[in-house]
Amino acid sequence: MPQKKFLSLTCPVCETKLKLVETITYVVCPSCEAELNVTNDEGKDHLESVETAEAARFSPQERELILINAKIRAKDDRYGMGCAIATLVIAGLASISMVFALDYHLTFLLDLTVFGSLVSLGLVLVLFTSASNHKTQPLARQREQLLTAIGQPSGAEIQDSKA
Ligand SMILES: [Zn+2]
Repeated sequence: MPQKKFLSLTCPVCETKLKLVETITYVVCPSCEAELNVTNDEGKDHLESVETAEAARFSPQERELILINAKIRAKDDRYGMGCAIATLVIAGLASISMVFALDYHLTFLLDLTVFGSLVSLGLVLVLFTSASNHKTQPLARQREQLLTAIGQPSGAEIQDSKA
């Protein structure tokens, strides 16, 4: 039986190194979930984002728009993840503190825990939302400009129309 050959390829979206069985032609990147086609250019295998391949049908401006949408989505995902982790940590700490407060009948600690958790959850929300907006704002502005240039009311359709 011939041994399976593996290809070492790099995800063009997030630059994660992927090891793939040679016969594979399509893969979803485990880190960024980009859909990728394995393509062969002049004997050299490489990965190409399905989104990019589809984007080739669009004008350069529309292509740029798709890229910006993907960037915004990736940034939002990252902040969403950070927000979720921070929330979990707060909830975990609050639970420990509450158990302690109930065990020792410390009403003030219970009050403090509830109040503290609510305040920190609010802070997390505000911080992550503003940080995320701050990072995506230049991209969003760029998107607006492109949308105006293309003359389309919304950019969402381009990205979602995979048919
Ligand atoms: Zn990737």
